[in-house]
Amino acid sequence: MKKEFIFNEVNKLDGIGPQLSKYLKKRKIEKIKDIILNLPYSETDRSKIVNLNSLEVGKIQSIKVKVKKLNFPRIRNLPNKIICEDETGKIDIVYFNSREGYLRKLYPINEYVIISGKINYFNKSYQITNPDYVTSIENKDYVVKNIPKYALTKGINEKKYRSISEKVINDLPVISDWLEDTFIKENNLISWNECIKKLHYSNDSKNIQSKSYRRIVFDELCANFLTLSENRKRIKKIKIPKKFTNKYSEILIKKLPFELTLSQKEVLDEINYDLLSNRRMFRILQGDVGSGKTIVSLIAIINVIKSGYQCALMSPTEILSKQHFELAKNIFKKDNLKIEYLTGKTDYKKRKEILNNLKNGEIDLIIGTHSLFQKKINFQNLGLIVIDEQHKFGVKQRSDLAKKGGNNCDVLLMSATPIPRTMMMSLYGDMDVSKILEKPKNRKKIITLSKPEKKINELWPFIKKQIKEGNQIFWVCPLIEDSAFLEYSSAKKKYQIIEKKFPNTVSLIHGDLEKDEKEKILKKFLIGDKSILVSTTVIEVGIDFPNANLIIIENANKFGLAQLHQLRGRVGRGGKQGTCILLFKDGLSKNAIKRIKILKKSDDGFFIAEEDLKLRGFGDLVGFQQSGIKNFKFADPINHNDLFKLAEKFVKNVISDINHEKFTFLLKLFDKAEIINFDNV
Ligand code: ADP
Ligand code: MG
Repeated sequence: MKKEFIFNEVNKLDGIGPQLSKYLKKRKIEKIKDIILNLPYSETDRSKIVNLNSLEVGKIQSIKVKVKKLNFPRIRNLPNKIICEDETGKIDIVYFNSREGYLRKLYPINEYVIISGKINYFNKSYQITNPDYVTSIENKDYVVKNIPKYALTKGINEKKYRSISEKVINDLPVISDWLEDTFIKENNLISWNECIKKLHYSNDSKNIQSKSYRRIVFDELCANFLTLSENRKRIKKIKIPKKFTNKYSEILIKKLPFELTLSQKEVLDEINYDLLSNRRMFRILQGDVGSGKTIVSLIAIINVIKSGYQCALMSPTEILSKQHFELAKNIFKKDNLKIEYLTGKTDYKKRKEILNNLKNGEIDLIIGTHSLFQKKINFQNLGLIVIDEQHKFGVKQRSDLAKKGGNNCDVLLMSATPIPRTMMMSLYGDMDVSKILEKPKNRKKIITLSKPEKKINELWPFIKKQIKEGNQIFWVCPLIEDSAFLEYSSAKKKYQIIEKKFPNTVSLIHGDLEKDEKEKILKKFLIGDKSILVSTTVIEVGIDFPNANLIIIENANKFGLAQLHQLRGRVGRGGKQGTCILLFKDGLSKNAIKRIKILKKSDDGFFIAEEDLKLRGFGDLVGFQQSGIKNFKFADPINHNDLFKLAEKFVKNVISDINHEKFTFLLKLFDKAEIINFDNV
């Protein structure tokens, strides 16, 4: 096989027709290399030939039998049947929808065949229906052994998939390894070709610390880090430095009703340094919910506007944008700035006017949703893009965004999702990072309580009191609707229960609703139409609900720590004491108790994210599952921590060599090549 061949679509392989390739595509096996990277997760033991008097019903077993009789009923819908025997008994092999000619070839009368499949018992005799394998005695070794079971192939004939995968792996092109032999030896890895074979034909794929598994993890990490490094190199290009003094920002800061925290001042220094420098800023500002990121961005914005540029502030929802818009208008009241608000709903006339004024430089600051970045929108001289709550942005989108801004545009992303240290490089390795570690001093710590579900009745008086005092309550359930399989509370059911207790005070929101509908409900809740909002986890992170001071979270052990922390961050933002009540089923595991303790003890999103990672592992971290950021296929930041560090070091040394053919191959293998091949920014 030629090297480049593996980047073809799977339908280039013999035996894969349009239907099968469509099927595989649905399971993300699109190119031949995806077959290489689709590892077996288990094996089926077909390694023993079992006598017919020792069969076990329900098990997959292999038998060696003599074909006695083929039976093709002439009545429609009756199956074809082949009667076979060995010295110890009889068995029927049953086929639905199989052609006579085909079966006659497969089962020559009076000859021995090997059959493997699931044993049934029907009408007082053993049966195998549509066996997985039927083969002559000469080909016994192909069937009678442990056979790998592949992930993602459910519903595809196992034998078929195996034959395809085998053909690919056996014909694997010999590639010139991107790792030097000495490096491989020193770090206890293994060559690429050897690694792939072992992952498919030994137990290595099931042992995430085996040499071969570690090799594929290392490759995956390198591909990822190389992409990020390259992205960074392309974005952080020379620009015209912004020119400003702190005169205007200082006036603004003095007018604020509070003093900036030390952390806020520090990150502002970092941002200003970038703005004034001759390299484009590409920075992410991380800080817990409520740590005061917005004001930091507005201060940066006034500096950029005063140096003669336009700015754009973008957030994921209309409500959030609206809140930012109101805040900006208020804060910049005396600055004589032209600020506008643009979303998908802005009417045609207004929209046209805004687009015009962006193009001719009338507008200083535009605030809005993603609709700010449509093709049609042109700025006269955009100097800074700020994006709030951006954790749904992957590398590709980030680079697109930087492109959109043009050569003199700085980029600031803001995120309330604290990322554990190990993950930082692999998610944001292309960006500089600023962190707000400190909360505003006046912020009251949210009281976190836990309660068994069966004591829920003790809560009602407390809730009643809150409603009376005009406070608002979030009530979070893991499910939208009751499920026959999961014992979790559902929002719809809970809504009915609570509405019965407190008529006309409850509203309901969940992920099945249209975006517009959700926004409408949240908007109404924001102005206080109802006291209780029953929801799934859809409530937006960034919105300020100043009247909400109680959040009740059902089946709290279902959620990750970081997620619980974010949820509770939605209350107590208006200066009132916030309370978070975690409801649990009885019989908590040790792990669950540990998790509650961490939440009660700590108010620090970064600490909680680290603990969450330790306790639950990577896949469960908040933001990853819901976000567009793809999980690693192989790497795990806890178990492969050393490889994360090793890959980071390795990439630093080879990044200048990234265009070398061997690295291109690596990048293509992990679908990174397209991200890197964007036109120069
Ligand atoms: P974030 O976006 O980081 O979640 P916000 O910027 O929405 O946080 O800030 C939350 C609230 O805290 C806002 O009402 C804001 O005015 C206020 N705030 C910001 N910085 C401070 C500070 N240093 N001291 C007191 N309050 C602050
Ligand atoms: Mg915010």
